[in-house]
Amino acid sequence: MEKLSATYEQQDKEYIVGAYGRFDVVLEKGKNATCWDVDGREYIDFTSGIGVNSLGYADEGWARAVAEQAAKLQHTSNLYYTKPGVELAKMLCEKTGYDKVFFVNSGAEANECAIKAARKYSFDRYGKERTEIITLQNSFHGRTVTTLAATGQDSFHNFFFPFTEGFRYAKANDLEDLTSKITENTCAVMMELIQGEGGVMPLEKEFVKAAAKLCKERDLLLIVDEVQTGVGRTGKLLASELFDITPDLVTLAKGLGSGLPIGAVLFQKNVAGVLGPGQHGTTFGGNPVACAGGCEVLRRVSEPAFLKEVQEKGAYLKAKIEEIPEVEGVDGTGMMLGIRLKTKTSGEAAKACVANGLLILTAKQKLRLLPPLTITYEEIDKGLEILKKTLA
Ligand SMILES: *Cc1c(COP(=O)(O)O)cnc(C)c1O
Repeated sequence: MEKLSATYEQQDKEYIVGAYGRFDVVLEKGKNATCWDVDGREYIDFTSGIGVNSLGYADEGWARAVAEQAAKLQHTSNLYYTKPGVELAKMLCEKTGYDKVFFVNSGAEANECAIKAARKYSFDRYGKERTEIITLQNSFHGRTVTTLAATGQDSFHNFFFPFTEGFRYAKANDLEDLTSKITENTCAVMMELIQGEGGVMPLEKEFVKAAAKLCKERDLLLIVDEVQTGVGRTGKLLASELFDITPDLVTLAKGLGSGLPIGAVLFQKNVAGVLGPGQHGTTFGGNPVACAGGCEVLRRVSEPAFLKEVQEKGAYLKAKIEEIPEVEGVDGTGMMLGIRLKTKTSGEAAKACVANGLLILTAKQKLRLLPPLTITYEEIDKGLEILKKTLA
């Protein structure tokens, strides 16, 4: 009998633009870190939809919050106030210490907003020449024309010319290089603290702290892209806490909605007033259904006991993976881990894992793990068993 998966795969190829290289899997349903395809095959999920499903698949509290809001009021436009938007913004500010929030719908849009805010801040104080933003080599900031320009990888600067002007790329962990890139026209420095798509590359704490200090001295805004590292992913609510810094602007997205599209920019007091009425906006930003889901995520994930468990489960995973003979080492922290392999390529290893029932990601030459933060030890052990078998 022909598998249902094959039918959907074929129709996907027929009707959807071929911008994605997909695995041969058609998922139908899930529970926490376990999911099933349309043919009933079970998978352990070490991906959480690329760091999105913080509470796993079909979490009851999250599904209830979203369903109740959808049945009550699904969208209003930003002409009106809504309760879920206010609640989520208040909770975000109270739990992170930031002054204000702006809601968007994705990571790239959060970064666009932060870039606009930084340029506006500089425009207000220094006029229209001071516009340059320094980002780091090997970074990833999104797929819009501006966030592609912000991304410090040549391979992303192709096809779609002309890209947005005003980005320069400094070497990560090289303060001298960063300093040399600053000119009188620099307005901001933007970085991920653990480069995600770039291969799970944690920055050095001393570099990050020195960069933050440099920004303060020169009145450059520090934008930290926590689209992947934020909302508990590293075992802290924000990865910035791990680095002892307080950026002026922090961008969030992926894990904030646990599956619905939402992004947010956190503004420190010094920059919270720069975007005035009519100067920025988005139709869907702050959508009440997404915000209701976000409230459930933030309420749960910000609990100290929850974050401690993320750290512990991450440490457990790391230790167990390091015992596998094919593994050279494991980078990252909490539930954001990158596995260096000795002989296999990450692509072939990921494909083999999926064939054996484990969903796993790659980032450059590493296997990458972004499991749901709620994954159980039982699910972790099942996944590790498949990983071990596959890498044998
Ligand atoms: C995923 C990601 C983005 C882009 O987010 P989208 O929601 O796909 O636009 C930006 N920055 C980082 C660090 C990311 O991991």
